[in-house]
Amino acid sequence: MGKYIQNLIVSNLMRKTFADNNQMCLYLQIITATVICAATHLYMLIFFIWAESLVFTVYNIFSLLFYLAMFLLLRKNRFTLICVLETTEVTLYGAAFCLLTGLATYGLTYFVLIIIMQQIVPYGSPQLRTKLLAAGLLSGFVCVAVTYYVPPIITFSAAATHLLMVSNIFLLLVGVVIELYIRAVTEKIVENVNDAYVRELSSQAYTDPLTGLYNRRYAEMFFEKAAVKNEQPRCCVAMIDIDDFKAINDTYGHGCGDDVLVFLAGFLRMSLRKTDVIFRWGGEEFLIILEDVELTQANDVMDGLRDRLSNAVIATRQGDLRVTITVGLAALNYAAVAESVESCDARLYDGKRAGKNRVVM
Ligand code: GH3
Ligand code: MG
Ligand code: MG
Repeated sequence: MGKYIQNLIVSNLMRKTFADNNQMCLYLQIITATVICAATHLYMLIFFIWAESLVFTVYNIFSLLFYLAMFLLLRKNRFTLICVLETTEVTLYGAAFCLLTGLATYGLTYFVLIIIMQQIVPYGSPQLRTKLLAAGLLSGFVCVAVTYYVPPIITFSAAATHLLMVSNIFLLLVGVVIELYIRAVTEKIVENVNDAYVRELSSQAYTDPLTGLYNRRYAEMFFEKAAVKNEQPRCCVAMIDIDDFKAINDTYGHGCGDDVLVFLAGFLRMSLRKTDVIFRWGGEEFLIILEDVELTQANDVMDGLRDRLSNAVIATRQGDLRVTITVGLAALNYAAVAESVESCDARLYDGKRAGKNRVVM
Protein backbone atom coordinates (compact mmCIF):
# COMPACT_ATOMS: atom_id res chain seq x y z
CA MET A 1 0.00 0.00 0.00
CA GLY A 2 2.74 2.46 1.05
CA LYS A 3 4.78 1.44 -1.97
CA TYR A 4 1.75 1.94 -4.21
CA ILE A 5 1.10 5.45 -2.90
CA GLN A 6 4.79 6.29 -3.23
CA ASN A 7 4.85 5.11 -6.86
CA LEU A 8 1.72 7.11 -7.56
CA ILE A 9 3.28 10.28 -6.11
CA VAL A 10 6.58 9.71 -7.93
CA SER A 11 4.95 9.06 -11.32
CA ASN A 12 2.75 12.14 -10.91
CA LEU A 13 5.69 14.33 -9.99
CA MET A 14 7.68 13.04 -12.97
CA ARG A 15 5.01 14.41 -15.28
CA LYS A 16 5.26 17.89 -13.79
CA THR A 17 8.01 20.36 -14.54
CA PHE A 18 9.95 22.05 -11.78
CA ALA A 19 12.85 24.47 -11.99
CA ASP A 20 14.87 22.39 -9.52
CA ASN A 21 14.68 20.01 -6.57
CA ASN A 22 13.93 22.84 -4.13
CA GLN A 23 10.88 23.83 -6.13
CA MET A 24 9.64 20.23 -6.17
CA CYS A 25 10.14 20.03 -2.37
CA LEU A 26 8.27 23.29 -1.90
CA TYR A 27 5.42 22.06 -4.07
CA LEU A 28 5.06 18.95 -1.91
CA GLN A 29 5.16 20.94 1.32
CA ILE A 30 2.54 23.42 0.11
CA ILE A 31 0.24 20.76 -1.26
CA THR A 32 0.44 19.01 2.12
CA ALA A 33 -0.38 22.25 3.97
CA THR A 34 -3.27 22.94 1.58
CA VAL A 35 -4.69 19.44 1.99
CA ILE A 36 -4.48 19.67 5.80
CA CYS A 37 -6.17 23.09 5.82
CA ALA A 38 -8.92 21.96 3.45
CA ALA A 39 -9.48 18.75 5.45
CA THR A 40 -9.65 20.73 8.71
CA HIS A 41 -12.24 23.09 7.25
CA LEU A 42 -14.26 20.17 5.94
CA TYR A 43 -14.23 18.63 9.40
CA MET A 44 -15.16 21.97 10.96
CA LEU A 45 -17.97 22.42 8.45
CA ILE A 46 -19.49 19.11 9.48
CA PHE A 47 -18.89 19.92 13.13
CA PHE A 48 -20.59 23.32 12.98
CA ILE A 49 -23.54 21.97 11.02
CA TRP A 50 -23.95 19.47 13.84
CA ALA A 51 -23.39 22.20 16.47
CA GLU A 52 -25.94 24.36 14.63
CA SER A 53 -23.73 27.39 14.22
CA LEU A 54 -24.81 29.23 11.08
CA VAL A 55 -21.95 31.74 11.18
CA PHE A 56 -19.24 29.09 11.31
CA THR A 57 -21.02 26.85 8.81
CA VAL A 58 -21.02 29.67 6.26
CA TYR A 59 -17.45 30.66 7.17
CA ASN A 60 -16.22 27.10 6.59
CA ILE A 61 -18.04 26.81 3.26
CA PHE A 62 -16.19 29.92 2.07
CA SER A 63 -12.94 28.57 3.47
CA LEU A 64 -13.37 25.36 1.48
CA LEU A 65 -13.99 27.36 -1.70
CA PHE A 66 -10.89 29.39 -0.88
CA TYR A 67 -8.76 26.21 -0.67
CA LEU A 68 -10.23 25.00 -3.94
CA ALA A 69 -8.84 28.18 -5.48
CA MET A 70 -5.49 27.44 -3.79
CA PHE A 71 -5.34 24.07 -5.56
CA LEU A 72 -5.82 25.89 -8.84
CA LEU A 73 -3.02 28.32 -7.99
CA LEU A 74 -0.85 25.35 -7.07
CA ARG A 75 -1.10 24.12 -10.65
CA LYS A 76 0.47 27.41 -11.69
CA ASN A 77 3.29 27.07 -9.12
CA ARG A 78 2.32 30.39 -7.46
CA PHE A 79 3.93 29.30 -4.21
CA THR A 80 4.59 32.64 -2.50
CA LEU A 81 1.10 33.93 -3.22
CA ILE A 82 -0.49 30.70 -1.98
CA CYS A 83 1.43 30.71 1.28
CA VAL A 84 0.73 34.36 2.01
CA LEU A 85 -2.97 33.82 1.33
CA GLU A 86 -3.13 30.63 3.38
CA THR A 87 -1.27 32.24 6.28
CA THR A 88 -3.75 35.12 6.18
CA GLU A 89 -6.71 32.75 6.01
CA VAL A 90 -5.55 30.68 8.97
CA THR A 91 -4.76 33.79 11.01
CA LEU A 92 -8.18 35.27 10.29
CA TYR A 93 -9.92 32.00 11.04
CA GLY A 94 -7.98 31.68 14.31
CA ALA A 95 -8.94 35.24 15.26
CA ALA A 96 -12.61 34.71 14.35
CA PHE A 97 -12.66 31.45 16.30
CA CYS A 98 -11.13 33.00 19.43
CA LEU A 99 -13.14 36.22 19.39
CA LEU A 100 -16.54 34.72 18.55
CA THR A 101 -16.37 31.62 20.75
CA GLY A 102 -14.16 32.95 23.51
CA LEU A 103 -12.26 29.63 23.42
CA ALA A 104 -8.92 31.36 22.89
CA THR A 105 -6.82 28.56 24.36
CA TYR A 106 -8.02 26.08 21.74
CA GLY A 107 -7.99 28.73 19.02
CA LEU A 108 -4.27 29.19 19.64
CA THR A 109 -3.80 25.91 17.72
CA TYR A 110 -4.21 27.81 14.45
CA PHE A 111 -1.67 30.47 15.40
CA VAL A 112 0.90 27.93 16.60
CA LEU A 113 0.69 25.88 13.40
CA ILE A 114 0.93 28.89 11.11
CA ILE A 115 3.85 30.35 13.05
CA ILE A 116 5.81 27.09 12.79
CA MET A 117 5.01 26.91 9.08
CA GLN A 118 6.75 30.25 8.47
CA GLN A 119 9.89 28.70 9.87
CA ILE A 120 9.64 25.43 7.92
CA VAL A 121 8.34 26.18 4.42
CA PRO A 122 10.78 28.37 2.47
CA TYR A 123 8.12 29.85 0.19
CA GLY A 124 9.41 33.42 0.23
CA SER A 125 12.18 35.67 1.50
CA PRO A 126 13.12 35.34 5.19
CA GLN A 127 11.97 38.94 5.73
CA LEU A 128 8.49 38.19 4.40
CA ARG A 129 8.18 35.05 6.48
CA THR A 130 9.42 36.83 9.61
CA LYS A 131 6.80 39.55 9.10
CA LEU A 132 4.01 36.99 8.76
CA LEU A 133 5.38 35.10 11.77
CA ALA A 134 5.29 38.30 13.82
CA ALA A 135 1.77 39.07 12.58
CA GLY A 136 0.60 35.58 13.62
CA LEU A 137 2.24 35.91 17.05
CA LEU A 138 0.74 39.34 17.62
CA SER A 139 -2.73 38.26 16.46
CA GLY A 140 -2.65 35.27 18.78
CA PHE A 141 -1.64 37.46 21.71
CA VAL A 142 -4.32 40.08 20.95
CA CYS A 143 -7.00 37.40 20.60
CA VAL A 144 -6.16 35.88 23.98
CA ALA A 145 -6.11 39.32 25.60
CA VAL A 146 -9.40 40.43 24.04
CA THR A 147 -11.28 37.26 24.94
CA TYR A 148 -10.21 37.80 28.54
CA TYR A 149 -12.22 41.02 28.63
CA VAL A 150 -14.95 40.53 26.01
CA PRO A 151 -17.61 37.84 26.51
CA PRO A 152 -18.11 35.28 23.70
CA ILE A 153 -20.72 35.96 21.01
CA ILE A 154 -21.36 32.34 20.09
CA THR A 155 -21.68 29.66 22.74
CA PHE A 156 -22.01 25.90 22.35
CA SER A 157 -23.38 23.06 24.40
CA ALA A 158 -20.99 21.43 26.86
CA ALA A 159 -20.63 18.40 24.56
CA ALA A 160 -19.84 20.55 21.52
CA THR A 161 -17.33 22.63 23.48
CA HIS A 162 -15.63 19.47 24.68
CA LEU A 163 -15.46 18.04 21.17
CA LEU A 164 -14.09 21.34 19.90
CA MET A 165 -11.34 21.21 22.51
CA VAL A 166 -10.43 17.62 21.69
CA SER A 167 -10.46 18.35 17.94
CA ASN A 168 -8.21 21.37 18.25
CA ILE A 169 -5.72 19.61 20.48
CA PHE A 170 -5.67 16.68 18.08
CA LEU A 171 -5.14 19.05 15.16
CA LEU A 172 -2.29 20.69 17.05
CA LEU A 173 -0.56 17.37 17.72
CA VAL A 174 -0.99 16.04 14.19
CA GLY A 175 0.00 19.39 12.67
CA VAL A 176 3.17 19.68 14.75
CA VAL A 177 4.22 16.11 13.94
CA ILE A 178 3.71 16.73 10.21
CA GLU A 179 5.64 19.99 10.39
CA LEU A 180 8.49 18.22 12.18
CA TYR A 181 8.84 15.56 9.50
CA ILE A 182 7.65 17.26 6.34
CA ARG A 183 11.08 18.40 5.17
CA ALA A 184 12.71 14.98 5.58
CA VAL A 185 9.80 13.22 3.88
CA THR A 186 9.59 15.61 0.93
CA GLU A 187 13.35 15.48 0.41
CA LYS A 188 13.15 11.69 0.33
CA ILE A 189 10.34 11.81 -2.24
CA VAL A 190 12.33 14.22 -4.42
CA GLU A 191 15.28 11.82 -4.22
CA ASN A 192 13.02 8.97 -5.39
CA VAL A 193 11.71 11.07 -8.26
CA ASN A 194 15.27 11.83 -9.35
CA ASP A 195 16.20 8.14 -9.19
CA ALA A 196 13.16 7.29 -11.29
CA TYR A 197 14.20 9.93 -13.84
CA VAL A 198 17.64 8.39 -14.12
CA ARG A 199 16.17 4.91 -14.54
CA GLU A 200 13.80 6.11 -17.23
CA LEU A 201 16.51 7.98 -19.10
CA SER A 202 18.84 5.02 -19.06
CA SER A 203 16.08 2.69 -20.21
CA GLN A 204 15.36 5.12 -23.04
CA ALA A 205 19.04 5.20 -23.89
CA TYR A 206 19.13 1.42 -24.16
CA THR A 207 15.97 0.73 -26.13
CA ASP A 208 15.00 1.36 -29.70
CA PRO A 209 11.98 3.69 -29.78
CA LEU A 210 10.41 2.09 -32.87
CA THR A 211 10.37 -1.56 -31.82
CA GLY A 212 10.93 -1.30 -28.07
CA LEU A 213 13.76 -3.83 -28.39
CA TYR A 214 17.18 -3.37 -26.82
CA ASN A 215 19.46 -1.33 -29.03
CA ARG A 216 23.06 -1.84 -30.03
CA ARG A 217 24.37 0.32 -27.19
CA TYR A 218 22.69 -2.04 -24.74
CA ALA A 219 24.10 -5.02 -26.61
CA GLU A 220 27.62 -3.72 -26.10
CA MET A 221 27.03 -3.29 -22.37
CA PHE A 222 25.38 -6.72 -22.21
CA PHE A 223 28.39 -8.42 -23.79
CA GLU A 224 30.84 -6.54 -21.59
CA LYS A 225 29.00 -7.70 -18.47
CA ALA A 226 28.65 -11.27 -19.75
CA ALA A 227 32.36 -11.47 -20.58
CA VAL A 228 33.39 -11.04 -16.94
CA LYS A 229 31.02 -13.74 -15.65
CA ASN A 230 32.77 -16.98 -14.75
CA GLU A 231 30.19 -19.50 -15.89
CA GLN A 232 28.96 -19.14 -19.44
CA PRO A 233 26.09 -21.29 -20.66
CA ARG A 234 26.25 -22.73 -24.18
CA CYS A 235 24.82 -20.00 -26.32
CA CYS A 236 24.26 -19.32 -29.97
CA VAL A 237 24.04 -16.03 -31.73
CA ALA A 238 21.83 -15.36 -34.76
CA MET A 239 21.81 -12.36 -37.07
CA ILE A 240 18.52 -11.79 -38.86
CA ASP A 241 18.22 -9.56 -41.91
CA ILE A 242 14.97 -8.84 -43.78
CA ASP A 243 15.16 -9.76 -47.45
CA ASP A 244 14.71 -6.99 -50.01
CA PHE A 245 13.62 -4.54 -47.36
CA LYS A 246 14.74 -1.59 -49.41
CA ALA A 247 12.19 -2.58 -52.05
CA ILE A 248 9.39 -2.43 -49.42
CA ASN A 249 10.45 1.08 -48.43
CA ASP A 250 10.76 2.14 -52.05
CA THR A 251 7.43 0.65 -53.13
CA TYR A 252 5.19 1.30 -50.13
CA GLY A 253 6.99 4.06 -48.26
CA HIS A 254 9.09 4.29 -45.12
CA GLY A 255 6.05 4.16 -42.81
CA CYS A 256 5.07 0.81 -44.22
CA GLY A 257 8.67 -0.38 -43.74
CA ASP A 258 8.40 0.71 -40.09
CA ASP A 259 5.21 -1.34 -39.70
CA VAL A 260 7.10 -4.41 -40.92
CA LEU A 261 9.91 -3.77 -38.43
CA VAL A 262 7.43 -3.40 -35.55
CA PHE A 263 5.67 -6.59 -36.61
CA LEU A 264 8.91 -8.52 -36.84
CA ALA A 265 9.99 -7.33 -33.39
CA GLY A 266 6.71 -8.58 -31.93
CA PHE A 267 6.98 -11.81 -33.89
CA LEU A 268 10.48 -12.48 -32.53
CA ARG A 269 9.38 -11.71 -28.97
CA MET A 270 6.45 -14.12 -29.28
CA SER A 271 8.45 -16.86 -30.95
CA LEU A 272 11.47 -16.94 -28.68
CA ARG A 273 11.87 -17.88 -25.05
CA LYS A 274 12.01 -15.33 -22.24
CA THR A 275 15.67 -16.18 -21.69
CA ASP A 276 16.63 -15.39 -25.29
CA VAL A 277 17.76 -11.81 -25.81
CA ILE A 278 16.78 -9.78 -28.87
CA PHE A 279 18.56 -6.63 -30.02
CA ARG A 280 17.79 -4.32 -32.91
CA TRP A 281 21.30 -4.36 -34.29
CA GLY A 282 20.90 -2.00 -37.23
CA GLY A 283 18.19 -0.77 -39.61
CA GLU A 284 16.52 -4.07 -40.52
CA GLU A 285 18.94 -6.37 -38.74
CA PHE A 286 18.22 -8.11 -35.46
CA LEU A 287 20.74 -9.94 -33.28
CA ILE A 288 19.50 -12.77 -31.09
CA ILE A 289 21.22 -14.64 -28.31
CA LEU A 290 19.75 -18.10 -27.82
CA GLU A 291 20.54 -19.34 -24.34
CA ASP A 292 21.67 -22.81 -23.47
CA VAL A 293 21.25 -24.54 -26.84
CA GLU A 294 23.46 -26.48 -29.25
CA LEU A 295 23.98 -25.10 -32.72
CA THR A 296 21.79 -27.75 -34.34
CA GLN A 297 18.92 -27.04 -31.92
CA ALA A 298 19.30 -23.31 -32.56
CA ASN A 299 19.22 -24.00 -36.26
CA ASP A 300 15.88 -25.83 -35.89
CA VAL A 301 14.45 -22.99 -33.82
CA MET A 302 15.52 -20.31 -36.27
CA ASP A 303 14.45 -22.26 -39.30
CA GLY A 304 11.00 -22.85 -37.83
CA LEU A 305 10.74 -19.17 -37.07
CA ARG A 306 11.84 -18.23 -40.59
CA ASP A 307 9.33 -20.63 -42.10
CA ARG A 308 6.43 -19.31 -40.00
CA LEU A 309 7.35 -15.72 -40.81
CA SER A 310 7.40 -16.42 -44.55
CA ASN A 311 3.77 -17.60 -44.26
CA ALA A 312 2.64 -14.76 -41.98
CA VAL A 313 0.51 -11.94 -43.32
CA ILE A 314 1.63 -8.57 -42.03
CA ALA A 315 -1.03 -5.87 -41.79
CA THR A 316 0.61 -2.56 -42.68
CA ARG A 317 -0.77 0.91 -43.41
CA GLN A 318 -0.43 0.02 -47.10
CA GLY A 319 -2.29 -3.27 -46.82
CA ASP A 320 -1.21 -6.86 -46.22
CA LEU A 321 2.39 -7.82 -46.94
CA ARG A 322 4.68 -10.81 -46.62
CA VAL A 323 8.41 -10.74 -45.93
CA THR A 324 11.17 -13.28 -45.65
CA ILE A 325 14.35 -13.22 -43.61
CA THR A 326 17.81 -14.63 -43.97
CA VAL A 327 19.59 -15.78 -40.81
CA GLY A 328 23.25 -16.33 -40.03
CA LEU A 329 23.90 -18.57 -37.03
CA ALA A 330 27.04 -19.26 -34.98
CA ALA A 331 28.06 -20.48 -31.56
CA LEU A 332 28.61 -17.57 -29.17
CA ASN A 333 31.95 -17.29 -27.47
CA TYR A 334 31.61 -14.67 -24.75
CA ALA A 335 35.37 -14.25 -24.62
CA ALA A 336 35.37 -13.25 -28.31
CA VAL A 337 31.97 -11.77 -29.04
CA ALA A 338 33.11 -9.66 -31.99
CA GLU A 339 34.44 -12.76 -33.76
CA SER A 340 31.24 -14.70 -33.06
CA VAL A 341 29.12 -11.89 -34.48
CA GLU A 342 31.42 -11.55 -37.48
CA SER A 343 31.12 -15.23 -38.27
CA CYS A 344 27.35 -14.93 -37.90
CA ASP A 345 27.39 -12.00 -40.32
CA ALA A 346 29.52 -13.92 -42.83
CA ARG A 347 26.98 -16.78 -42.81
CA LEU A 348 24.16 -14.31 -43.23
CA TYR A 349 25.80 -13.05 -46.41
CA ASP A 350 26.37 -16.61 -47.57
CA GLY A 351 22.62 -17.04 -47.17
CA LYS A 352 21.88 -13.87 -49.13
CA ARG A 353 24.15 -15.00 -51.97
CA ALA A 354 22.58 -18.45 -51.97
CA GLY A 355 19.11 -16.96 -52.65
CA LYS A 356 17.83 -15.55 -49.28
CA ASN A 357 14.95 -16.86 -47.09
CA ARG A 358 17.16 -19.41 -45.31
CA VAL A 359 19.22 -20.13 -42.20
CA VAL A 360 22.95 -20.73 -42.58
CA MET A 361 25.09 -22.13 -39.76
P1 GH3 B 1 18.85 -7.71 -48.75
O1 GH3 B 1 17.84 -8.72 -49.12
O2 GH3 B 1 20.15 -7.95 -49.42
O3 GH3 B 1 18.99 -7.56 -47.28
O4 GH3 B 1 18.31 -6.34 -49.32
P2 GH3 B 1 17.76 -5.15 -48.49
O5 GH3 B 1 17.01 -4.27 -49.44
O6 GH3 B 1 17.01 -5.61 -47.34
O7 GH3 B 1 19.09 -4.53 -47.93
P3 GH3 B 1 19.66 -3.10 -47.83
O8 GH3 B 1 20.71 -3.11 -46.78
O9 GH3 B 1 20.07 -2.60 -49.19
O10 GH3 B 1 18.47 -2.22 -47.34
C1 GH3 B 1 18.16 -2.05 -46.02
C2 GH3 B 1 17.13 -0.94 -45.97
O11 GH3 B 1 16.61 -0.79 -44.65
C3 GH3 B 1 17.69 0.40 -46.33
C4 GH3 B 1 17.05 1.38 -45.35
O12 GH3 B 1 16.34 2.39 -46.01
C5 GH3 B 1 16.09 0.51 -44.60
N1 GH3 B 1 15.96 0.89 -43.23
C6 GH3 B 1 16.88 0.94 -42.26
N2 GH3 B 1 16.36 1.35 -41.09
C7 GH3 B 1 15.04 1.55 -41.32
C8 GH3 B 1 13.94 1.97 -40.50
O13 GH3 B 1 14.08 2.25 -39.31
N3 GH3 B 1 12.72 2.05 -41.07
C9 GH3 B 1 12.55 1.76 -42.40
N4 GH3 B 1 11.32 1.86 -42.90
N5 GH3 B 1 13.55 1.37 -43.19
C10 GH3 B 1 14.78 1.25 -42.67
MG1 MG C 1 20.70 -5.16 -44.01
MG1 MG D 1 17.94 -6.74 -45.85
